[in-house]
Amino acid sequence: MESIFDAGIIGAGIGGLTAALELRDYNIIVLEKLHRPGGTSFSFRRKDYEFLTGPLGFSHPDLIKSYFMDKGLSNLRFTRTNYQLLAGNINLIISKPLNLLEKDLKSLFQHENVEKAVSELKEVICKVRGIFYHEGKYFNALKGNWFEVQMDGAGYDISAAEFFSQFIEDDTLLSILSGMGLKESEFSLIASACMWDVLAEVGLWYPADGLSEMVRSLFSKVENKVKLRHAIEKISFEDGNYVLSTSKGIFKAKRIILNADVKKTYYLMDDELSKTFKPFIDKREEGDSLLTFYAGIDESKINKERIRAHHVLYYPYLDESNDQRGNRFFENEVEVTFLSDYGKFCPEDKAAVMIRSPLDYDECKFDTEEKYYKFKEKISTELLEIVEPLVPGIGSAVEVRDASTPVTYEVWGGRYRGSIAGWNWDDSMPRCLVKTPLENFYVCGIYSFSIPFLGAFPTSLYSGKLAAGFVRSREKI
Ligand SMILES: Cc1cc2nc3c(=O)[nH]c(=O)nc-3n(C[C@H](O)[C@H](O)[C@H](O)COP(=O)(O)OP(=O)(O)OC[C@H]3O[C@@H](n4cnc5c(N)ncnc54)[C@H](O)[C@@H]3O)c2cc1C
Repeated sequence: MESIFDAGIIGAGIGGLTAALELRDYNIIVLEKLHRPGGTSFSFRRKDYEFLTGPLGFSHPDLIKSYFMDKGLSNLRFTRTNYQLLAGNINLIISKPLNLLEKDLKSLFQHENVEKAVSELKEVICKVRGIFYHEGKYFNALKGNWFEVQMDGAGYDISAAEFFSQFIEDDTLLSILSGMGLKESEFSLIASACMWDVLAEVGLWYPADGLSEMVRSLFSKVENKVKLRHAIEKISFEDGNYVLSTSKGIFKAKRIILNADVKKTYYLMDDELSKTFKPFIDKREEGDSLLTFYAGIDESKINKERIRAHHVLYYPYLDESNDQRGNRFFENEVEVTFLSDYGKFCPEDKAAVMIRSPLDYDECKFDTEEKYYKFKEKISTELLEIVEPLVPGIGSAVEVRDASTPVTYEVWGGRYRGSIAGWNWDDSMPRCLVKTPLENFYVCGIYSFSIPFLGAFPTSLYSGKLAAGFVRSREKI
């Protein structure tokens, strides 16, 4: 007789694997399109170098460590990573705890009321840390699943820029406070507070044994439930069950937990399902896409004098020594990460570097593969060139190179239009989107909250627990 699973989980990213672990005593199946688990949280090798496919680190390591301990997974140790903002005469370690950062900002913007702005920000952080909204109630994710709290959301329904402009006049300082960089921020106040919490107060951390190892540990507990290389091609509903069609067969399940990209999956639903599901994606805009350049370099050939942190947020147009006006990344923020300064990514005398900058998805669409690869080569070279004044010698020190465009993130990561960080973070409050308009159909992962309030990776893990909880609490399965 045909098997009908209690739950079908689509995608073995962090959210999907966590949901599977929570439900491993049930008759479940995880269908994953790639040849390996982990989704965007993984790494890949090019010769002697290892690079990261997505996250370069994540916040709330204690939450993740204790979850791993509880489940008998590997014992995690973390290294904190730091960020330097280098924009003309602004040269700051921006990931310092806010009481230290306040002093640096004060010396740069002496006529501004930095103390007031930072103390107001800290107050918002204290009120909203770990808090999200679901069906008229507030919960604190850091205190446990569905831990309800009393909170008055009033007064927070403004953008970060509006909030800080009450205390600050200088446009540059306003951008730094509202968006952690120099571009105009679209964050809501709460999104900005969550991101300051993640970046500066709790910090961003990297697992000492590597991200892939961490994922493998999680995967090892649910491996027998996972079918790799099983891409969902169509979803329909028949006789009370969801029907998941893959190139390797059909699977039926009473309930679904969707970890794959929500908008991409919407286009796989039959007419009936997609009609009901549509309100879930209507009016929700996915976040930006980017280009990543991976460089394996001979460290002896570069000058790292200007580099003071693991990650540098660099603004070429504000750098007097950068005269590459014709370079397409000249006006952008460019993030340069020295992975090998915080993990074992290559041999001792080498450096594994990742360079990222925003790039529009539509620019990468071509009618032939040849044109696409030519474009990819050209823009990757431009991205490498734009950081030459920051890291003199880097151009000629590259031994291994590769790149990911928004099309790579779409094809490999399964991300709609190559978007990387969930929805646009402009909602006034992190809203739980685990439940969908389709009955018994839940979402986990980066699209399961309107703002990834704990940072993306821990939010995905937490949402996997919530989605599993919904599945479990519905009658007996
Ligand atoms: C470039 C980039 C940089 C990032 N940087 C950070 C960072 O620094 N810190 C941070 O916390 N987060 C970062 N993120 C966000 C990161 O994606 C999350 O932290 C986390 O990996 C998301 O996990 P997830 O559970 O949403 O699943 P995902 O990683 O999105 O996994 C979804 C899974 O679904 C699978 N899938 C897709 N379509 C199908 C289908 N049709 N059938 C079957 N399976 C399918 C995919 O192959 C994948 O395995 C970054 C993401 C990207 C892309």
